[in-house]
Amino acid sequence: MSSEIPQLHIFFFPFMAHGHMIPIADMAKLFGTRGVKTSLITTPSNAPLFSKTIQRSKDLGIQMDLKIIKFPYVEAGLPEGCENVDAITTGVTTTSKDMAIKFLKATAMLKEPLEQLLRECKPDCLVADVFFPWATDAAAKFGIPRLVFHGINFFSLCTTACMTIYEPHKQVSSDAEPFVVPGLPGDIKLTRKQLPDFMKSNEETDFTKMLKDSKEAELNSYGVVVNSFYELEPAYADYYRNVLGRRAWHIGPLSLCNKNVEDKAFRGKQASIDENECLKWLNSKKPNSVVYICFGSVANFNSDQLMEIAIGLEASEQEFIWVVRKDKKDQEEKEDWLPEGFEKRMEGKGLIIRGWAPQVLILEHEAVGGFVTHCGWNSTLEGVTAGVPMVAWPISAEQFYNEKLVTQVLKIGVSVGVQQWARLVELVGDFVKRDAIEKAVKEVMVGDRAEEMRSRAKELGEMARRAVEKEGSSYSDFNALLEELSLRRN
Ligand code: UDP
Repeated sequence: MSSEIPQLHIFFFPFMAHGHMIPIADMAKLFGTRGVKTSLITTPSNAPLFSKTIQRSKDLGIQMDLKIIKFPYVEAGLPEGCENVDAITTGVTTTSKDMAIKFLKATAMLKEPLEQLLRECKPDCLVADVFFPWATDAAAKFGIPRLVFHGINFFSLCTTACMTIYEPHKQVSSDAEPFVVPGLPGDIKLTRKQLPDFMKSNEETDFTKMLKDSKEAELNSYGVVVNSFYELEPAYADYYRNVLGRRAWHIGPLSLCNKNVEDKAFRGKQASIDENECLKWLNSKKPNSVVYICFGSVANFNSDQLMEIAIGLEASEQEFIWVVRKDKKDQEEKEDWLPEGFEKRMEGKGLIIRGWAPQVLILEHEAVGGFVTHCGWNSTLEGVTAGVPMVAWPISAEQFYNEKLVTQVLKIGVSVGVQQWARLVELVGDFVKRDAIEKAVKEVMVGDRAEEMRSRAKELGEMARRAVEKEGSSYSDFNALLEELSLRRN
């Protein structure tokens, strides 16, 4: 891009969940490094989650600011400060489902304050989350192009589309009978059990209505930005564009815009461990000897499942870093989720992080040789980028699709064997037994198969890095997008 191109100003508006806010903050940073003026939009309680990113970006000479809009928690009947999916899913209770519905309603009320901001600032583009279907209309009112960010990959975008068009799940006789997703390259097999509830039912809910609206809004939008790189899933990137006819730009892996330790350590929440302490621990370990276990920012397990993980891990005889999503209140309670004497026995061998881990920093360390993941797309792509084989333990959302990508298409991971999709606000995932955990961990850490998967994963990790370098596929697509937006402006 030449310096004659007038400076663009772009708004970035993520859904209030870490899995959306983190990649969009990275995206804003990426645009900022190319001279674009960027504004992140969020609500008061979420603002501190961006303050570090903004400060660091300013230090790097990136023009980034934060625009805060009021969250209508009173109007939506939510408790004060309940402005993030985190608040609904920490310590899931019977009211969580009700809160999730109210939360969704509250987000729809953000259209007006967004329009106010668009009117005032007239940015050149609005990148808004897929969960804000009304953002396309809001932007159109001011002649501003709206880009959609789904937070998922081409594979899942295509799978969702093919499932909706062909409805193969309606032709099987039981929930456990596998079917091939028609139209989708690669003979991808799924079962009805692995599909989200809303896909199986014909009932219209607030959530299905929002999804329907967002599909329409996407078709009317300027296009889609995807956190992925072409070489990772060429068949699906092509299918999305050429067969489904969508306009899309792949610009990932977005996490790679974080170049130094501090940037990598401060994504999302404040880590519950000092990054240097964490690195010191990892530095004392041999290459590929540590398995990292983390289930993202939303999923919760009950004490029985945590206990089973602990026993399975100990039996696998692998060194580990295990992130357990427990808030302070939980920590004060008796820890009934660890076997007697577990931490003493694991001293020096295993590290439990209670709360938030500096994930990218950990994954990229050469000591880490495997990743047990819930297959959230950010985590999965971070695992790919770090070149580590994975144990796929999908829980919800489109995570079962990502499991298929990792195990069947990329062949860089094994399934732990979960069969049943679960709602995040209900805590009802499949219970995975210790033997399955032990077996899957060993499969990605030791033996010939692990080595094969690791070498494939490493190759993909290198491709990921090349994709974002000059002339790389993501770099070029990003350039094309910037040029289009600049031309629109002239
Ligand atoms: N993450 C992190 N530390 C944690 C848990 C999660 O840094 O302790 C980050 C992780 O690196 C990823 C994001 O949070 O970028 C989680 O997104 P993902 O799509 O994997 O899962 P979700 O949280 O949306 O289920």
